[in-house]
Amino acid sequence: MIVRFLGTHNAESSNTRLVSFLIDDVLAVDAGSLASELSFPEQEKIKAILLSHGHYDHIRGIPAFAFNNSHHATKVFATQQTLEILCSHLIDGVIYPKFSESTSFLGKPALELLTLEPLKAEDIEGYRVLAIPVNHGVDAVGFEITSKDGKKIFYTGDTGPGLLSLWEHVSPHLLIADVTFPNRFENVAKDARHLCPALLNRELIEFRRVKGYLPRVILIHLSPKFEEEIRGEAQEIATELGLSIGIACEGEKLII
Ligand SMILES: [Zn+2]
Ligand SMILES: [Zn+2]
Repeated sequence: MIVRFLGTHNAESSNTRLVSFLIDDVLAVDAGSLASELSFPEQEKIKAILLSHGHYDHIRGIPAFAFNNSHHATKVFATQQTLEILCSHLIDGVIYPKFSESTSFLGKPALELLTLEPLKAEDIEGYRVLAIPVNHGVDAVGFEITSKDGKKIFYTGDTGPGLLSLWEHVSPHLLIADVTFPNRFENVAKDARHLCPALLNRELIEFRRVKGYLPRVILIHLSPKFEEEIRGEAQEIATELGLSIGIACEGEKLII
């Protein structure tokens, strides 16, 4: 399984992109930078898109992707509320076409919207995908994605603390975790329902207690202005826990 990071931050600039990554070039997870970071032929290869929740930074690439790939239907999987946010705010027929419907301009639908039920595993393009609710204020899920050869990743999506009940359902080799803030903003992170390294540390201690091991960890959704601070604090918890914690970078590929 190859994970290719397109966007790994919570803020967009000339050198930071909003969250999106690919699995083996065919499955996209979140769409913050789905169109802007891929060539047209690379976009054509994508068979399905998973959306963790309806916040702008995770769905904003969908209209541009649909516009570019309107000659065939791409499947978009998300919870009902996330699909409703997408349809009512981005592909609403006002600011851009309703890409999930047939239109005289586009012909057939460019997107096939499919509802994911939390905790009900789905086979999506040969991957087992399990959506699990997380703590983020809006309807939000993380995804465990299992390849045919049994490699597993778990992506938390945007989440605050309180993941204990979630760990019983997953056994990832790689954990891709939201860490948006440094430790001095722990209370801000809790209020905004994100993690900082100290909050992640507590979640990982619980993970180890429940599962008996710790996965490789990669941090995503970093606030660019705090990135160096987060990097230092992540190294401290990696040393304390005796595991590898990396920071996801735009353009980086990981082999699991
Ligand atoms: Zn969010
Ligand atoms: Zn976000």
